[in-house]
Amino acid sequence: MDDQPPIRPSLLPYGRQSIDAADVEAVVAALQSAWLTTGPAVERFEAALCRHTGAARAVAVSNGTAALHTAMAALGVGPGDEVIVPAMTFAATANAVVYCGGTPVFADVEPDSLLLDPIDAARRITPRTRGIIAVDYAGQPADYAALRAVADRHGLFLAADACHALGGSLDGRPVGSLADVSTFSFHPVKPIATGEGGAVTTADEQLARRARIFRNHGITSDHRSRETAGAHRYEMVSLGFNYRLSDIQCALGCSQLEKLPRWVERRQAIAAAYDEALSTDPVYRPLAVRAGCRHAYHLYVVRCLAHATGPERDRVFASLRRQGIGTNVHYPPVHLHPYYRATFGTAPGLCPHAERAYEEILSLPIFPGMADGDIRDVLRGLARVAGREAGDSAAVPAAA
Ligand SMILES: *Cc1c(COP(=O)(O)O)cnc(C)c1O
Repeated sequence: MDDQPPIRPSLLPYGRQSIDAADVEAVVAALQSAWLTTGPAVERFEAALCRHTGAARAVAVSNGTAALHTAMAALGVGPGDEVIVPAMTFAATANAVVYCGGTPVFADVEPDSLLLDPIDAARRITPRTRGIIAVDYAGQPADYAALRAVADRHGLFLAADACHALGGSLDGRPVGSLADVSTFSFHPVKPIATGEGGAVTTADEQLARRARIFRNHGITSDHRSRETAGAHRYEMVSLGFNYRLSDIQCALGCSQLEKLPRWVERRQAIAAAYDEALSTDPVYRPLAVRAGCRHAYHLYVVRCLAHATGPERDRVFASLRRQGIGTNVHYPPVHLHPYYRATFGTAPGLCPHAERAYEEILSLPIFPGMADGDIRDVLRGLARVAGREAGDSAAVPAAA
């Protein structure tokens, strides 16, 4: 198998941004404007985010991690508070709780979707629990109806780490208005790109106000509003950060958002092609998608099942890499990172479904600019690793 020439001469990435001439023009216009940061493009971008998420308010910040930190701070998370987070997520979800002095409490995920399990989340509630952060893993909205019921029963906030899911929806309600507060990332592999970038969306006016103050050092007015008012006085009322997103980035964000619905459709078409090829595969099992959700497919994740003739995940990863096909693993369970073990005493066995999944998951290439031929290359690479490439003289028939 590995002495065959690679399927692709250069690496197909697992994710990549799409930048067109309109994006370039938007950035150039921002560069030539009076404001490089905290200008009119920020408000335009926030208004556009509200339109795409159905949220009443959006606050643009410097990245998705800053959005999570801002959300936790605006919700008043502090020392002694516990916040439930799924074990299967990027570390930043839990880190945001720690930044505020709180304790992330890891809950397990459902094995078929890798979304936060509402029953396990409820089981981890203590008198110190303040809220729950759900993660729309891979771009599929979490089970907000069940999580809302748990949160309401115990008087908790419900936050959404929606960094994967911009453009998705659940039962017709867009991602960004499914929880008390939602957070987004505009890192280049995410649904839209601003280089670095992030946002918080909410219906709660007070929460949005606290978020705006938090992103600007804890100061109640910004540079532009003082300039417009011809005033110089300002007050710092709480401890904040410089988490502002520049006008240059927001101009790019506005231009990118116009393409979001089309891009989500393309991601769904790529996922449908993978689903069709893999739904009955004995080795590669796609994740389950719940009825009623519009999946944004930031990631397309398969589990590589242990099989008599089949491969394990690390072998698949390495072999695909040699074939010129880039994949990735999202994510090592957060509670197994050395930092969390040392600081919070977490250990293997805490979230068995997430731990088991981590040994099997692989994120296949998916991004709007992917061509149909790229999809075929990925499927051919997967078949070749499993030893059953069509027309391959060394092919081993797939076992039942
Ligand atoms: C990307 C991501 C973040 C962090 O976003 P950055 O913009 O990289 O800071 C947080 N949570 C999840 C689930 C993510 O995928």
